[in-house]
Amino acid sequence: MTQHETPSPRRAWLKKAFVISVAAATLPKLAFGDSKAAVHYQDHPVPGKMCGMCRFFIAHGATSPGKGMMGSGMSGMKACQDGSCQVVAGEISPMGYCTLYSPLA
Ligand code: SF4
Repeated sequence: MTQHETPSPRRAWLKKAFVISVAAATLPKLAFGDSKAAVHYQDHPVPGKMCGMCRFFIAHGATSPGKGMMGSGMSGMKACQDGSCQVVAGEISPMGYCTLYSPLA
């Protein structure tokens, strides 16, 4: 193919598919920051909002988010241990907060 020929529809489609797949692999990390700093994570709550009440919080020992800080079925001090987050990397305090906070339904 010379430079003056138009690319085949199949080639154009493959190029678009490649660009979309690269964007899909990259955008979630950009959107969610992938780091605590990008989402202004802090280890203390703001009034009425904390990780332990966020739908993305995964309580210590739990396997899925959406159950709050008591989601692991534990109580007392164990329920207050750091957990993790579905969208922010690293250990997450149930008393923390970030700009992606979304309350439990
Ligand atoms: S999204 Fe933010 S507020 Fe919610 S659990 Fe993760 S770090 Fe905490």
